[in-house]
Amino acid sequence: MLVVMNSNATEEQIANVVKSIESKGFEARISRGEIKIVISAIGSKLTDKRDFELLSGVTEVIQLTTSYKLTTRAFKSDDTIVEVNGVKFGGKYAGMIAGPCAVETYEQVDETAKKLSEIGVKILRGGAFKPRTSPYAFQGIGEEGLKILRSVADKYGMAIATEIIDVSQIDMFMKYVDIFQVGARNMQNFNLLKELGTVHKPIILKRGLSSTYEEWLMSAEYIMAGGNGQIILCERGIRTFETYTRNTLDLAAIPVVKKLSHLPVIVDPSHGTGLRDKVEPMSRAAVAGGCDGLIIEVHYNPDCALCDGAQSLYPEQYKQLYDEIKQIAPIVGKEIL
Ligand code: PEP
Ligand code: MN
Repeated sequence: MLVVMNSNATEEQIANVVKSIESKGFEARISRGEIKIVISAIGSKLTDKRDFELLSGVTEVIQLTTSYKLTTRAFKSDDTIVEVNGVKFGGKYAGMIAGPCAVETYEQVDETAKKLSEIGVKILRGGAFKPRTSPYAFQGIGEEGLKILRSVADKYGMAIATEIIDVSQIDMFMKYVDIFQVGARNMQNFNLLKELGTVHKPIILKRGLSSTYEEWLMSAEYIMAGGNGQIILCERGIRTFETYTRNTLDLAAIPVVKKLSHLPVIVDPSHGTGLRDKVEPMSRAAVAGGCDGLIIEVHYNPDCALCDGAQSLYPEQYKQLYDEIKQIAPIVGKEIL
């Protein structure tokens, strides 16, 4: 951290800043220039820069260290590759996850998974516990849904990714799921993140509805700090002033976050746009932008879906999209798995 003062700051003001820096456990080093005096606070502790901003004579405080470490490129320069059921996320690979928004019935999951596995998808998504904005909306069918996902996935040799909404569900989920999904609304459920740090299964961490890249990485840091490095970050759109789409899919997250962090970044164009006809172009754009995978809602009969039908692709649409992105991926040095 650098505390910047005007060159006409008094010796008393400088001494006061040094005292404050040292009282927080840092070493203070003063550099006197013609225009500015810069006092560096050296140490690895975290601090609140506002503590120094209000000191007399201080013009600016520049924080140099980030509050996240394990997730940064500085900590690990090579890409983390998360592998599930032969599908890899990260490095040269972009993994595909597809399935309905919510588990409704055995037939619905079976019909959808059958079509997806014929296309080549090896990871099935579907929510059994749905965090809905309205308490009166369909909330998912609970553990029964996890059982359905497991038995259908086993039938077609697929793995499953499904959302956990509460820390109390971890033991139950361990029995059925291959990938834990932390939804946008739970991105800052720190108790859940801490516990998932102790789990030996991959975690999809969705970006919060209004979260910055740093807040998102800080949440991943909670999981990593607990010992679980198998994290897949998922851009799923953020809240902006635009109302035409459900969310604003922030594809810049791919290059920005991949530069900051070694973790794979996948994209969810379904929640990112909310409209089926926008899912295909945004999927193509995400692959062209170097994403490490896509998670897409597909329903065998979206017109009758209990949740997010309008953003769910018909299986034939998904098949066409899959063929297209297989052609796009090699141009950016990626392979679709
Ligand atoms: C989902 O994937 O079904 C979901 C609810 O997503 P999000 O948490 O991104 O809204
Ligand atoms: Mn959904």
